[in-house]
Amino acid sequence: MIECPEAFVIAQQINEAVGGKRIMNVIAAQSPHKFAWYHGDPQKYHDLLSGKLIGKASSFGGLVEINAEDAVILLGDGVNLRFHCENDKRPKKHQLLIEFEDFSALSASIQMYGGLWCFKKGDFKNKYFLQAKEKPSPLSDKFDRSYYDSIISGADTGKLSVKALLATEQRIPGLGNGVLQDILFNAGLHPKKKVKTFTEEDRKKLYGSIKSTLSEMTCQGGRDTERDLFGCYGGYKTRLSKKTVKKPCPLCGNIIEKAAYMGGSIYYCSVCQKM
Ligand SMILES: [Zn+2]
Repeated sequence: MIECPEAFVIAQQINEAVGGKRIMNVIAAQSPHKFAWYHGDPQKYHDLLSGKLIGKASSFGGLVEINAEDAVILLGDGVNLRFHCENDKRPKKHQLLIEFEDFSALSASIQMYGGLWCFKKGDFKNKYFLQAKEKPSPLSDKFDRSYYDSIISGADTGKLSVKALLATEQRIPGLGNGVLQDILFNAGLHPKKKVKTFTEEDRKKLYGSIKSTLSEMTCQGGRDTERDLFGCYGGYKTRLSKKTVKKPCPLCGNIIEKAAYMGGSIYYCSVCQKM
C-alpha cells in the first residue's frame, strides 16, 4: 500500500504526465469491487469531469489529489494508479478510467480497498481526507521537533507502543505500517517498545529517523515494494520488509524476524532494536 513517500512521488509524476490535459471520457465502476468507495453515484463522474483541464496534483498523507477546474479527483492509499500512453493496452479490470483528448489515460484499480472520490470542490466532508489535509506532512518543515513533541507527549500516548503511536489513529497522515518498519530500525527501537520507557535519546533518535527515513524514501522514488505511476518499483531499498525477512540484518548480521502485531506484520532485528 502506498504511503506518504509514494503518494508524493505519484503526484509529481501526474503533474508531468497529465498536467494540462483535457479529460475526454470517464468510466467509473466498470469492474465491480466490494471495497471501492465512490462519492455519490460513480455513473455521474463522466458528466462531472469530461471537458475539464487537469490542474495541479498534490499529496496529503497517502492520498493523491488531482484538481480539474472546479472538480477534484481524490485517490486513496489502496488505489493502484497507472498512466497509459495512446497505444498502451488498458487494464482489463479497473474501477476508474480517465481518458484524455490525446488518447492517453489514467487507470485506477483497487488492491484490497480504496477510495476513488470525484466531487465538486468543497463537496467532500470525509473525516480521513480533511484530517490528512489539515495535519502537517512529516515531509514538510511544519512537521518540526516541537510538533513531534506535541504528538509524543499527548495525553494518551504513554501506554502505547511506538507502533501504535506512529501508525494508528492517523496521528501522522501517510505514515503507516510500511514505512514504519525502517523508521524504527533506523531509530534502533523495537515496534513493541512502550513510549513511556523512552529516554530523551530515544525521542531524539525517533524524530531524526522519521524525517531522514521518509525523505530518503521520497528522494529515491518510493520504496522497492510499491509501484509508481508507470508501474515501476521505487528505488528505495527497504531494510525491513517482506523482501528482507529471514535475511541478515544490514547492521549486525542477525536474522530479521517477522511477527503479527496490531493488525499487520512487523519486521525487526532483535539485536539492533531495543524493547
Ligand atoms: Zn541488527
